[in-house]
Amino acid sequence: MDFTLDRAMTEDELRAHLDSALTPALLMMTAHVTGDAGVLRTEWKPNRATLPASGLAPETDAEIRAFCLKRLVPYLASQRDWAALPDDFLRESMCTWLMDVDIEDAQAMAAVAFTPDDSDPRGPEWHLDEIAPDSGLSAVVIGAGFSGLLAGLRLKQAGVPFTILEKSTNVGGTWYENSYPDCRTDVRSHIYTYSFVPHDWVTHFGRQQAIHEYLYNFAAKNGLLEHISFGTEVTATRWDESTSTWTIDTRTSDGVVGSAEAQIVVSAVGQLNRPMIPAVDGLDTFTGPVMHSAQWDHSIDFAGKRVVVIGTGASALQFAPAVAKEAEHVTIFQRSAPWLRSTPVLRQEIDPGERWLLTNLKHYRAYYRFSIFLPRLIGNLPAATVDPDFPPTEVSVSAANEALRVELTDYLTEQAGDRLDLLEQIMPDYPPAAKRIICDDGTWVATLKRDNVRLVSQAVHRIDKDGVWIGDEHVPADIILFGTGFKASEFLVPMTVTGIGGQDLHQTWGIDASAYLGITLPGYPNFFCMYGPNTNTVIHGNLVFFLECQAAYITSAVQMLAKGGHRSMALRPDVFTEYTDEVTKESAKRTWGWSKTHSWYQNAAGRSTIMWPLPARQYFERTSAVHDEDYDIH
Ligand SMILES: Cc1cc2nc3c(=O)[nH]c(=O)nc-3n(C[C@H](O)[C@H](O)[C@H](O)COP(=O)(O)OP(=O)(O)OC[C@H]3O[C@@H](n4cnc5c(N)ncnc54)[C@H](O)[C@@H]3O)c2cc1C
Repeated sequence: MDFTLDRAMTEDELRAHLDSALTPALLMMTAHVTGDAGVLRTEWKPNRATLPASGLAPETDAEIRAFCLKRLVPYLASQRDWAALPDDFLRESMCTWLMDVDIEDAQAMAAVAFTPDDSDPRGPEWHLDEIAPDSGLSAVVIGAGFSGLLAGLRLKQAGVPFTILEKSTNVGGTWYENSYPDCRTDVRSHIYTYSFVPHDWVTHFGRQQAIHEYLYNFAAKNGLLEHISFGTEVTATRWDESTSTWTIDTRTSDGVVGSAEAQIVVSAVGQLNRPMIPAVDGLDTFTGPVMHSAQWDHSIDFAGKRVVVIGTGASALQFAPAVAKEAEHVTIFQRSAPWLRSTPVLRQEIDPGERWLLTNLKHYRAYYRFSIFLPRLIGNLPAATVDPDFPPTEVSVSAANEALRVELTDYLTEQAGDRLDLLEQIMPDYPPAAKRIICDDGTWVATLKRDNVRLVSQAVHRIDKDGVWIGDEHVPADIILFGTGFKASEFLVPMTVTGIGGQDLHQTWGIDASAYLGITLPGYPNFFCMYGPNTNTVIHGNLVFFLECQAAYITSAVQMLAKGGHRSMALRPDVFTEYTDEVTKESAKRTWGWSKTHSWYQNAAGRSTIMWPLPARQYFERTSAVHDEDYDIH
């Protein structure tokens, strides 16, 4: 389906698709198009928990649709005439109407949440040829996933010569490598999308292949493919102080070593790219196939096989149900049960009428996105914040967290039904948001209830040639599947990064990675990370938006270098220390930093190096400009 941004339409045409319209987006669009904030009536205020759907009675939704149609008819002749942006009053009215909490934060973010004509307001508004034609600046980007492709586009737009080095044979990173059955996002497709590149998503939650195709097309359409050197792994990068240049050592997939030079390096190697397989005693003696979710071998046939699944994280909850439908028997080993959030549309396709509206009405699309993006970013942090007066326990940490726990507990109880034995096993014993809350449409517990599935809430003690051991019990197995995640805390491994004075980044970090805003470090000039330490979010962010913030920060840093005729910029150590202390302090106040439950959100020292602990608004504001006083500039 093509996007027809400025098309006119008839009343009949709109009426034909209106039953599919979600009323929060429709009402905000009507307010925008007519300029009348009065249409956002209190009695039509949506239920935050059901957005983008209103959560109102069907007859109320029908009344709203008829009301909006009548109001919109005079404006249908030309979308071109519709105001590009809502005025301040309208924007404030929408935030107040849509959100119950943190209205100030919502208003501050509303401008970026609303992308009416797929404009790209945060692309660089400068070009190297204009500001510093003789600078000689060039960049190497490491990785061609969501992050590296965006960095590549921004450098291209700014006219900075660049190369992307990618160890894999295709773009997409996560969305190329993870091809296990039913791999998909647990974030709604329309916000797991670059804000300025809309897509006609078929499902509410994007499937792996569809996201890969989206990223491939993004790279192809923007002329990025010709900048990518595939099958080229970066093994080391070294800063040369005398020339203010990075030397980047590479090795191709057929073993050829080489090197490149650039003044700027952008590391976009991902947090979830290096699979983690626990060192279980005897694993190397197992004679059957062993697979990690990120290294799926599609030639393996599960029919008639006894399968062991180790792990019950986000990936296992997607692939294990599919495997259980084929295998003779599946034994699933769980270290800690995940919290599940009821998400009925998780595996559903978007209604064709809804897709028509999203494709043909640009303001509808913008407000649909707005009604998902804003409530996801704003107002959720209290549910993950420890209240010392509550008092916090290992089950819940504040009144808001307890309310969330009750909601999620009710869902699990309903799912378990009369299987009280199962309920005991699937009920987490840690506060919600200490780990990722996994979206579920009933598939997980239905899988656990299958006759051919057994859930074991213990660790695998030992593996031998034909099975695994739980204490004295031998569980025969033909195939072992690991859904055990990634070496997330080991940022930028295994390449070495050598900065000023020969210092090694991994030695500097030890097990405790940190970077200013997840992006820059003292001692490593002109070196920028995307999706670096503390840039993930549990319930109060959106990764693609955070990546867009990082790309904007990096391009403005490059602009500062070029414009000032500088050769290098390195973060000041005091800025780094102050920032790291703040992040450590703030993380300890959040469920994921506070809880003692085992998760990849904490490193071996028990500190959270993964999650952004402050409101999303603060990330946006702090990354919106590079402050030269934060850097030693030469
Ligand atoms: C199965 C799965 C599901 C996920 N679902 C979600 C979700 O629903 N929502 C969400 O927000 N996030 C999700 N994530 C997180 C996901 O990783 C990010 O959303 C996003 O894709 C990260 O993009 P990236 O480009 O930063 O990293 P990646 O996608 O990991 O890409 C990194 C790239 O760098 C390359 N690379 C790494 N090291 C080198 C090197 N030394 N030399 C050359 N190339 C190198 C890799 O080959 C890869 O192509 C999921 C992750 C996984 C694994």
